[in-house]
Parts: sequence; structure tokens; C-alpha cells
Amino acid sequence: MRRIDVLSLYTNDMSFYGDMGNVLVVSKRLAFYGFEPVVHFYNPGDVFPEHVDMVFGGGGQDSGQKNIFEDLQKRSEKLRELASQGVPMLMICGMYQLFGKYFLTNSGKKIPGICVFDLYTEATSDRLIGNLVEESSQFGRLVGYENHSGQTYFSSPLRPLGKVISGEGNNLKDGVDGAVVNNAIGTYLHGPVLSKNPKLADFLIQKAQLNRYGEELLPPAAPILRRIDELAGKANEAASRRPR
Ligand code: GLN
Repeated sequence: MRRIDVLSLYTNDMSFYGDMGNVLVVSKRLAFYGFEPVVHFYNPGDVFPEHVDMVFGGGGQDSGQKNIFEDLQKRSEKLRELASQGVPMLMICGMYQLFGKYFLTNSGKKIPGICVFDLYTEATSDRLIGNLVEESSQFGRLVGYENHSGQTYFSSPLRPLGKVISGEGNNLKDGVDGAVVNNAIGTYLHGPVLSKNPKLADFLIQKAQLNRYGEELLPPAAPILRRIDELAGKANEAASRRPR
């Protein structure tokens, strides 16, 4: 069986609104495609796994970000190397911010990030909270839930994940959410986002397969996946009609 090694970063501190569910969704889908998913949970001080095919990180409170940032700095070189090699990554909210250059908190503390994305985030007195719907040229309509005080700005031109249809996304000005660099994706979409946006999950799986086994096309999936995707599509529709 073809194994795929999934790394779940800082789940103890950084898994807001069920972001850990992204790891569960991707593990299940991997199994439906006939892979053997192996999940490595990594928290501060843990041994970093030898082989990594996909990386996940979730949102968290400012305090969670403060708990993990020092350890994250120690892993910065490795994670940047993986990102530059095209390892698929999905970073939500607080971890999206820390995959940028820094997050400046409300109390003026600058929490350094690891610069996978050339962007920075500053806390504001506005809380951007509610359903977030966006259109992605690559993945279609993406739906989730945002809750952040930080507003994120690109330092150099980056490809956003999507154009905001309703909600705010990165900040109150730009009308876009998230960023995509190589196969690393950052976004403010909680949910967990992959449960209502299976195309995004398949993109990550496809890239992991390509990197490890040299094949782009996913193998035929167990028939139940079609039913699951139908339900996910309905959930996506219902959620995108919901008021903010
Ligand atoms: N500290 C961040 C903010 O409020 C992260 C929030 C989150 O991850 N949900 O901007």
C-alpha cells in the first residue's frame, strides 16, 4: 500500500473551530483512494518526523501562537525547505499568520513567523467574524468561517486563495482571502474547511502523490466518496447562503 505521511502541526495549541478536522478529512480521503495515511502529531519539543508528504496547521488564540512560536522558529528552516520543494501545506488563520513574517498583537508584541508567505499581520480593534465565501479560480467556491482580529497584508505580490464574495478574508481593504505559494496554502477559512471543499483536499492529496510517487492522476476512489462529495457540495451550498 502506498503510504502518505501527514504532519499535523501544534494541534494542542492550534486547532480552532475544528481545524484538526482537516487532518481527519484528508486521512479518510487518502484511505478511500487506497493510500495508507500515517499522521504525525507534532507539538513543541517533539521529534520531527523523518518523512513528510503533507503539512497541516490550524487557528488558535494569540496565547496559543505565543506558546508555539519559539519551537516553530526551530523548525523554520525545515518547513521552508519542504514548502520550496512543493510539499502541499494547508495553514489556517493563526498558523497562516505565523507562516508569514510576523503577527503584531494588540498588546504590541511582535510574534515572528517563518516567512513561507511574504506577508504580515497586525491585530486591530475590529474582529472579522462570520461566514466567509470566496471564489477561487482553481477550486471554485470555497466556504468557511472566519474569526480573527489580525489583518493580513501581502509584502510583495502574492496569489490569494480566493476573491471574497461575502465576509472579509485577509483584511478590510483588499477583498481577497489567503495566499498560495508553490503548493502551500494559507487561509482564514475554518470549518474545518476541507469538509465542505473537497476539491481543495484532492489538490493536496494529488500533489503529495506526485511528489512521492511521481504520478499526478489520483487512483479510482471507493464509490462512497462520490456520495460524500455530493453531501459536501450540498453543505457548501447551504453554508454559502447563510447570513454572516
Ligand atoms: N490571533 C489571531 C487573530 O485573532 C488568530 C485567530 C485564529 O486563529 N482564529 O487574528
